[in-house]
Amino acid sequence: MTSPLDGFERLTVKIGSALLVDRTTGALRKEWLASLVADLAGLKNQNRDIIVVSSGAVALGRRILNLKPGTLPLDRAQAAASVGQVALAQAWREAFGAHDITMGQILLTPNITEERRSFINARATMGTLLALGAIPVINENDSVATSEIRYGDNDRLSARVASMLGADCLVLLSDVDGLYTGIPGPDSSAEHLPRVKAITPEIEAMAGGSTSETARGGMVTKIEAAKIATQAGTAMIIARGTSRNPLSELAAGARHTFFTATQSPAAARKRWILGTLEVAGTIHVDTGAAKALFNGKSLLPIGVTRVSGEFSRGDAVSVKGPDDREIARGLASMNNNDANLAKGKKSEQVALMFGDMNRTELVHADNLVLVTPTEK
Ligand code: GLU
Repeated sequence: MTSPLDGFERLTVKIGSALLVDRTTGALRKEWLASLVADLAGLKNQNRDIIVVSSGAVALGRRILNLKPGTLPLDRAQAAASVGQVALAQAWREAFGAHDITMGQILLTPNITEERRSFINARATMGTLLALGAIPVINENDSVATSEIRYGDNDRLSARVASMLGADCLVLLSDVDGLYTGIPGPDSSAEHLPRVKAITPEIEAMAGGSTSETARGGMVTKIEAAKIATQAGTAMIIARGTSRNPLSELAAGARHTFFTATQSPAAARKRWILGTLEVAGTIHVDTGAAKALFNGKSLLPIGVTRVSGEFSRGDAVSVKGPDDREIARGLASMNNNDANLAKGKKSEQVALMFGDMNRTELVHADNLVLVTPTEK
């Protein structure tokens, strides 16, 4: 039997609070977590990159602080998140530690995931964690996020994280096993949908129409997440995660809904850089640098002959060859002033100038797209 996870190399797995925290006692479901982490360790051993988005901070903090059940006022919810996040990170650390896997915590807010300037830093940090063999465990920074700068749900946050990192698959583990045509239940004619190829208004209506306690808000944000993910080239799976070893179960054929990605992550990124972003400046390069770019290398200052326009780190720039033809577009790693200071210099000199080894390239290969004549 083929697993729905087959062929994916970078998986983002989102875990809802209802799975991690026992609803009645408010305690962490330790054994369940251990079984999930065993599954994640197994996938990592198959040489896949794993990124975890974990809820549960508010739920855990609520119990530690002895707060009453029911909706918490904002200050208390934020205090609970602050206390609970420590417990949550500790639980993940211990669970991964049992498999000799290191985890790193990252707390995000929409201004980080949506703004390119912060985005490229967050992306670089998570990429480095993965390259070092560690697993990023991500949550929203609930204790400082205000309602204006808040996702409020980890479904959409996980879709943004998956698209930011070019993950090819996002798995949402929750207490429902997928999307239904109506309200699922014993007497209902609602049918389970195993596969969704496009998020049509009908699909959105199915999510909105559900009145099930857990599935209501839940399914709407999951469909929002599916829109973000599939457009960014990330396939998405909604699966039930309540029993132990939920990812092994999924791999063995447990019921789920699979949302097909509309394109590959690389194609989506290319389209985003070429099609959506306004170009803020131009970097002119010599023949050597042009050749390096065609070979998939980063753009280094040594090959830069001229910099024009005003741009900040994270802005889109156009790269032109000696004949003034555009050869690539990308996101600048430096602003135009630094680029001007660095141009024509060797990377070692650039590192000394900025005192920071990260800034030796002007456009990193990951953020660069070659322009072929037909795409212009
Ligand atoms: N970030 C919240 C928490 O950790 C959960 C949000 C969600 O469940 O989607 O408590």
